[in-house]
Amino acid sequence: MPSTISPSVSSPAPSSPPPRQHNLPRSISVVVPCFNEEEVIEQLRARLLLVLNALNIPYEVVLVDDGSSDGTWQLLQQFQQADPHFKVVRLSRNFGHQVAFTCGLDQANGETVLIMDADLQDPPELLPQMVELWSRGYDVVYGQRRTRNGDGSLKRFFAFAFYRLFERLTKITIPRDTGDFRLMDRRAVHALQTLREHHRFIRGMVSWIGFPQIALAYDRPERLAGVTKYPFKRSLFLAIEAITSFSYAPLRLASYLGAILSIIAFVYILVVIGLKIAGINFPGYTSIMGSILLLGGVQLLVLGLIGEYVGRIFEQGQSRPLYLIQEIHGEPLPTTPALKDSGK
Ligand code: UDP
Ligand code: MG
Repeated sequence: MPSTISPSVSSPAPSSPPPRQHNLPRSISVVVPCFNEEEVIEQLRARLLLVLNALNIPYEVVLVDDGSSDGTWQLLQQFQQADPHFKVVRLSRNFGHQVAFTCGLDQANGETVLIMDADLQDPPELLPQMVELWSRGYDVVYGQRRTRNGDGSLKRFFAFAFYRLFERLTKITIPRDTGDFRLMDRRAVHALQTLREHHRFIRGMVSWIGFPQIALAYDRPERLAGVTKYPFKRSLFLAIEAITSFSYAPLRLASYLGAILSIIAFVYILVVIGLKIAGINFPGYTSIMGSILLLGGVQLLVLGLIGEYVGRIFEQGQSRPLYLIQEIHGEPLPTTPALKDSGK
């Protein structure tokens, strides 16, 4: 639970936007991806409904089951049958967190859309403050973690290093220590929907679209129950995804390494010629082995990097849909026009 909350403007929008005509949005959609979350979603539902009913704004809750193998889907269906505010979607298999979010955004019709995790590490009680910042004219109000309780020290160190590395390598500033927890205006959601890349790093994409954005600092609580779906290995993959989606710097590394090695090789040849002229003979076998190994290693490394990008071109070229829906229950919010997208 957050102790104190203080909004702070961060890099994407240094100047304040003009305030909105009306203080409250006409409607709110809450989008939550759920993957094997049967232990927490009952609590999620209760806490969300408390917050949403107190706000007194028409709302819908879009829950996306990302191919869970536990009882999550049965629970989601029960929620929907008991309460028409719920719209539940089951993807045909596990597509991953970022794609599940995308599906939820495609299904959401509210004038504002809150995206959050199912495990209540993103406290829904921050919604009123987010709405208040939205009414001041911000298109994106994102939660920024002041503390990260419940994340192990390795994950914390990794997150710390990642945000700083990402900032150095890419032209985009993603605000540090943010998750996907954010309230977005319809305009920002529309913009985000136009980005259909397969390798998705939503935090980076939201920064990329621009518009006035503001941070809301909060203390991140521990996961309510269940286990993280982002162990170290998956977090590492997400980080590689993020950097290679937004930066060509790793490709450029190949040119730098090539240039440095060429200079070393040139100097080396000069030295060898010099030694020969001076009449000094030395067994060449060891140095040849050394240079072959070095060059072989660097070439493989660089080939692997190029492969990462070629793989992306291949996947994007296939133009498959981002996800497939198996089942969907519930009505869209009646107040705003439906914005349907095939997921392509
Ligand atoms: N999630 C998902 N698909 C996946 C993995 C995770 O929809 O393949 C959801 C998960 O149910 C949760 C959110 O993404 O709502 C974040 O996952 P988690 O809390 O495990 O990540 P962490 O907070 O530990 O980084
Ligand atoms: Mg979590």
